[in-house]
Amino acid sequence: MKKTVSLLVLSALFLTACQSDVQSYTAYTAAMDTSATVTVYGDGKAAAEECARLFEALDAELSVTASDSLVAMLNKNGSVSASEDLASLIEKANYICDITDGAFNVCVYPLVKLWGFTTGAYRVPDGEEIAAAVDTVAASSVTVKDGFAVVGGGEVDFGGIAKGYAAEKMAQMLKERGAGAAIISLGGNIRTVGKKPNGEKWRIGINSPTGDGVIGTLSLDEAAVVTSGSYLRYFEADGKTYHHIIDPASGYPADSGLVSVTVVAEDAALADGLSTAFFVMGKEKAASLAAKLGVNAVFITEDTISLTKGLRESFTPDSSVEGVYTIKYLS
Ligand code: ADP
Ligand code: MG
Repeated sequence: MKKTVSLLVLSALFLTACQSDVQSYTAYTAAMDTSATVTVYGDGKAAAEECARLFEALDAELSVTASDSLVAMLNKNGSVSASEDLASLIEKANYICDITDGAFNVCVYPLVKLWGFTTGAYRVPDGEEIAAAVDTVAASSVTVKDGFAVVGGGEVDFGGIAKGYAAEKMAQMLKERGAGAAIISLGGNIRTVGKKPNGEKWRIGINSPTGDGVIGTLSLDEAAVVTSGSYLRYFEADGKTYHHIIDPASGYPADSGLVSVTVVAEDAALADGLSTAFFVMGKEKAASLAAKLGVNAVFITEDTISLTKGLRESFTPDSSVEGVYTIKYLS
C-alpha cells in the first residue's frame, strides 16, 4: 500500500508579503503535526516567542497520539481532570457538533484510527468494521462534569479543531500583550490580529488543491481563515485515494464533491471546526449554515470555486484559474 501524506506546511495558505517600514519579528515552531509561524509587528519578539511556546504546550496537552497527553489519558481512562483548555475545547466542539448535525464530531476517533489516520497504519477497513465503528461513534459522547472531562463509549480526537483553538488563544494573548498587528499561521489555520501597520488589508492566499500555487487571494481585516482539504492528508490503496476527513454517518472519507473548503470567521476555533464540518456536509448544506451563522466560505470542487457573497469584495482570483475553474458567488 502506498502511503502519501502531504504534510500541511506554511505554504498551505501562503502569505503575501507586503512592503512595510515597521519592523516585525517571526517565531517559528512545529507542533500538532504542522509547522507554525507567528509574526508580530513592532517590538514583538517576546510575545511571538511566548505564542510559539503556547502552541507547543497546547499540543502536549491535546495530542491524541502522545501517550502522556491529557487527551490520551481521557481516552485510556474514560475521564480526566479537565484543564481550562480541555473544558472549553469540549464545550466548543459539542456546540459545533450540534449546529452541524454531527458532521463535526470529536468522538469520531474510532473511525479515524480504523483508517490509520494519526496512527500511520493506513488501510481500507471492511464494511463490518466500519459499521461497528459508526455505531460506536454515534453512541459516544464527551462532556465536562464537576471539573472532569468524561468520554462515554468511545474515544475523542480534537485534530479537527485544536489548531484553530490554539490560533484563537494565541491571538487573544497577543491582544492582551498589546500587539497591534500580528499574523499567526498554523498549517492551514491563519489568524490575523489588528490592522497591518501600512494600512493595507491582510492578503491571504488560498492554495490550489492540485498543488500548484494559489487559486486566489482574500484581502481581509482581522479574521481567521481556515482550510480543510482532501488533498492535504491522505493515502492511496489499489489506485484509490482515501483522505482524512471522515463522515461520521457513513464511516468513509467524506465524499461530498468538495476538494477544499476555506472558512472565514472571527473565531479561529469555530472556523476550524466548521471547515471540517463543511467538507463533510457538502456545498449546499454548508452554504446555508454559513449564511445562518454569518460566516463566509470558499468551496472548491474539481471545476468550480464557489464563494459566499460576503467575500465578493475580498476575493481576487489568480490568473491561473482561468479556463480551469468557474467562479460563482452564492446568493
Ligand atoms: P487538518 O487537521 O488536516 O488541518 P481538519 O481541520 O479538517 O484538517 O481536521 C481533520 C482531522 O480531524 C482529522 O485528521 C481527524 O483527526 C479529525 N476528523 C476527521 N473527521 C472528522 C469529523 N467528521 N469531525 C471531527 N473531526 C474529524
Ligand atoms: Mg478543522
